[in-house]
Amino acid sequence: MQLPPRDGLLSLCYHRIADYENDSYDSGVISTNGDQFDDQVSFLKRKQWLVTLEEALAFVEGKSGEKSPRFKVLITFDDGYLDNYEIAFPILRAHGAQGVFFLSTGLVGSNAVLWWDEIAYLVKHAKRRKFSLSYPERLEVDIGKNGTNESVASVNFLYRRPENTDSERFMRELRAALGETDPPSHPRRYLSWDEARQMIAGGMAIGGHTHSHRMLSKLDLEEQRKELTQSRAKIAEQLGIDTNVLAYPYGFNLAFSGQTQRIANEAGYRAAFSYYGGFNRNGSIDRYDIKRVGVNGQSHSRFRAEVGVSRLSGKFWP
Ligand SMILES: [Zn+2]
Repeated sequence: MQLPPRDGLLSLCYHRIADYENDSYDSGVISTNGDQFDDQVSFLKRKQWLVTLEEALAFVEGKSGEKSPRFKVLITFDDGYLDNYEIAFPILRAHGAQGVFFLSTGLVGSNAVLWWDEIAYLVKHAKRRKFSLSYPERLEVDIGKNGTNESVASVNFLYRRPENTDSERFMRELRAALGETDPPSHPRRYLSWDEARQMIAGGMAIGGHTHSHRMLSKLDLEEQRKELTQSRAKIAEQLGIDTNVLAYPYGFNLAFSGQTQRIANEAGYRAAFSYYGGFNRNGSIDRYDIKRVGVNGQSHSRFRAEVGVSRLSGKFWP
């Protein structure tokens, strides 16, 4: 029996393209490596499932004019890490495929290290193999016993506890617990405005990801409005484009609110992407909550199986 494909949009969310081994930062945001990304794009291209941002938006807005149900896949990247330019962009361009890159304007061209990467960096470079933290709760970490990845994950988990209301204190105490005195110097980690211009010229699309990458639901309305309007204005000024799509930082369902969605609409965004899983089926799409699923290091055969099941079931990853 031949099942028809679901009429819907599968939107993939990537962060970094890099090798897991020998990376100094958070491997949790490494989506895949260059070879596997090339395999993924080539597979999706061959199947003729890939769509551009404009095609995805036309579908979401009910204006695609397609006569028969069609399965569509959109490739998106959050945060604008430098490897998006160095590795992902050439691969996409070589396949004639488009990626949508959501940039946080405050990070563009910088060597900033946000908390998840800093936690990983500190633990991976720790001189002390055993340490304990007491804020916001007690945690004993034994890198020798539990391994680096599990140790990074346990500190990351502690940071994300709702009781952690003072993130500067958390990082200060982590550095102190590790005996870290001098702040390390980091190479540039985010793509620059000039690189973003080259990406646009090479067929890529750019979206907004706020200015400072704070969780919008934790900000008051005026601050949320500023984050959305100022970043949009900055992109227009630097890149000469009117970016009208947004990805909510963190993207899970409590990271933005109904008010955030309304502000996004008022700030001139046509659509906004979340990141807590799900498939966008025709007839049940919220333009300010376009669902995305993460690519998180799965093998190529698993990736193909997941996309295939999504195509037929209208749900995601089996
Ligand atoms: Zn982000």
